[in-house]
Amino acid sequence: YQAKAGGGSVATYDGSRDAASTDQLALLAELQEALQADDQLVLVLQPAVDLTTGAPTGVEALIRWRHPRRGWLGPADFIRPVENSDQLGPFTRYVLDKALTVAAGWAREGLDIPISVNLSARSLLDHRLPAEIAEALRRHQVPADRLVLEITETVVMSDLEVIDQVLSTLRSMGVQLAVDDFGTGFSSLAFLARIPVDELKVDRSFVLRMADSPQAAAIVRSTVGLAHELGLRVVAEGVETAAQRSALAELGCTAAQGYHFFKPMPADKIGAVLGSLARQAPTNVLPLRADG
Ligand code: C2E
Ligand code: MG
Ligand code: MG
Ligand code: MG
Repeated sequence: YQAKAGGGSVATYDGSRDAASTDQLALLAELQEALQADDQLVLVLQPAVDLTTGAPTGVEALIRWRHPRRGWLGPADFIRPVENSDQLGPFTRYVLDKALTVAAGWAREGLDIPISVNLSARSLLDHRLPAEIAEALRRHQVPADRLVLEITETVVMSDLEVIDQVLSTLRSMGVQLAVDDFGTGFSSLAFLARIPVDELKVDRSFVLRMADSPQAAAIVRSTVGLAHELGLRVVAEGVETAAQRSALAELGCTAAQGYHFFKPMPADKIGAVLGSLARQAPTNVLPLRADG
């Protein structure tokens, strides 16, 4: 039995696939437990920094699952099945709640740094999302503009009207929007023309190939130019080396995120890191050229 899968590839339905979907069902049941258990799903946090001052510009929340039997799982191990299940709503609310708990803690410590949360495109099909987010912001007493929602451009999909409605309601509430993995989606530019956003995140694949691919470098340069022209922030993701950092600075990119600066870290570590970054920022100016 063969079925044409969504992406146009041919999926074969056989014994192993059967086993895989049984396993996915088990995983979803376990996720339901994890959402109740409260100590299995944890956020790790990765700062983005200003390339000229070294100051933190924001912090992205990334989900990890400390599974009692399967060990540590990353989003790649479970996000897809969650997106295609009735667990997406509860999962999205859980992540937002955890992220806003963290942001509320920073506010109490006097740290004024926005937190970025990744949203599955599919959760934008739920017209209740803006009201839920408004309620969570109120409950945690976090100002709306301290929350950045990262969305990927797979949002081309279906039901554009619902998605546009949800996103524009969120934006009118003051929540910020970022386009994640910019340049990898189906129609980045059409998306930008439709939805006003605040930030573009240059996909890691372009940063990675920038040095030996003129095409990749041109894509980074024009994304940065586009962001400036539209008055948006631009953040390069997946920066691993000093050479990448200086190349980005030369292309006019103002902020970056990646292992070169910080790996994602547990919530109890990040307060100290942000505090010292914020204090050091004025004097701790990163050189534009690592070798210069
Ligand atoms: P993303 O939003 O583009 O997140 C960046 C990913 O790159 C993260 O992987 C991060 O750990 C990794 N990364 C950061 N710096 C570097 C670097 O210098 N080098 C390399 N090689 N990798 C780096 P992670 O945490 O595995 O997340 C993967 C994707 O899963 C994310 O991509 C995001 O799309 C999704 N995701 C993560 N957390 C959530 C969540 O809470 N909800 C939803 N719906 N999706 C999430
Ligand atoms: Mg992201
Ligand atoms: Mg990203
Ligand atoms: Mg990415």
